[in-house]
Amino acid sequence: MKRNVLIIGAGGVAQVVAHKCAQNNDALGDLHIASRTLAKCEAIVESVREKAAMKVEGVFNCHQLDALDKQAVMDLIGATKAQIVINVGSPFVNMTVLEACIETDAAYIDTAIHEEPEKICETPPWYGNYEWQRREKCAEAGVTAILGAGFDPGVVNAFARFAIDNFMDEVKSIDIVDINAGSHGKWFSTNFDPEINFREFTGTVYSWQDGAWQENKMFEVGREWDLPVVGAQKAYLSGHDEVHSLAANYPQADVRFWMGFGEHYINVFTVLQNLGLLSEQPVVTAEGLEVVPLKVVKAVLPDPASLAPDYKGKTCIGDLVKGIKDGEQVEVFVYNVADHEDAYREVGSQGISYTAGVPAVAAAMLIADGTWDTGTMVNVEELDPKPFFALLDVMGLPTRVRDASGDRAWNG
Ligand code: NDP
Repeated sequence: MKRNVLIIGAGGVAQVVAHKCAQNNDALGDLHIASRTLAKCEAIVESVREKAAMKVEGVFNCHQLDALDKQAVMDLIGATKAQIVINVGSPFVNMTVLEACIETDAAYIDTAIHEEPEKICETPPWYGNYEWQRREKCAEAGVTAILGAGFDPGVVNAFARFAIDNFMDEVKSIDIVDINAGSHGKWFSTNFDPEINFREFTGTVYSWQDGAWQENKMFEVGREWDLPVVGAQKAYLSGHDEVHSLAANYPQADVRFWMGFGEHYINVFTVLQNLGLLSEQPVVTAEGLEVVPLKVVKAVLPDPASLAPDYKGKTCIGDLVKGIKDGEQVEVFVYNVADHEDAYREVGSQGISYTAGVPAVAAAMLIADGTWDTGTMVNVEELDPKPFFALLDVMGLPTRVRDASGDRAWNG
């Protein structure tokens, strides 16, 4: 049994993580939130109190922290007696937080792959450049580290494992499709950190096909998908974290990630990129000021958390998994539909943050009760998906399955 949670980061996803931890603090124990800007932690805890989210009376404290400072993270883990760290800070802090967890015996959870600010789209598999290099250290120390436990990566990895284990003898392909059919009403905004969002799409699009990494450009390969609830939607082959672990765990399958984009997003993105405004490399202005164009773009765009009150519509994220069962071709779509307005009513966030934050807390609860307390580093598809789905069902993200025999709950 592990108890006491330290949440790192105080952005859109952290808001959801904080509310969901509070709703389950009988199982999770004392709660702490730490980020670069203390006021953002305080605003989150204030919103938890306003919604009376704490299930039982308990601690929820705020701390200022530079998570790039490993010693400071270790000190805070020690001071808070946290046995579980949920890292939902920017992906730039993953490695210091992970190392601090290894040294203090705290379990580690994140929702995105580590990134270095000045590098984009490194050599695949991306996990091999950073997190997986600490795999042996985790195993030696007996430290549980669950990588990429948001929605995508995260739940979609579990969807793939579930489809393969339960519907086929042999897997042929895993296509992850992420559609946000919601509308935020702003002229232009990204749904999460613009810097991270754009960095996903400015480099090479890596997919795993025919047993090798394939390279494409963003928006080069598009396809229409007919999905439950959100209907026909166009999505484009994109690079994404989960492709890099699923390809290692299921090398016999083609693994692709498809992200839905409207024409307006593509037009704005194309203009910004062609002007050089999405570059992560610094430039010097005529006044001698050194600026990173991408950081300037981030500074002028809406804060994604501010979209929540007016966001309407639904997301549909799922895996179309194809394979062979008893010599016959089979396919199954495992998916979830989430609603932006429901998310806002419950935790004050938009649906994208909600779908990322809820699974991270479900993972923490499975570590707390021992079910997922592996004592090693794993990606989500290496874990039994059923207890995860059972928790997600009651925490607001039910899993459904659509195949030749119909559309039903995953355990229906
Ligand atoms: P935000 O940009 O809203 O929040 C990031 C937070 O990290 C901010 O509070 C920021 O502080 C804090 N932070 C940044 N650097 C440091 C530092 N050095 N020390 C301490 N705190 C720091 O991001 P989101 O909440 O949207 O995303 C959080 C994570 O979740 C990201 O890794 C993102 O990629 C991931 N994500 C995963 C998804 C999934 O489904 N798997 C979906 C969406 C996001 P400050 O406020 O001071 O800037």
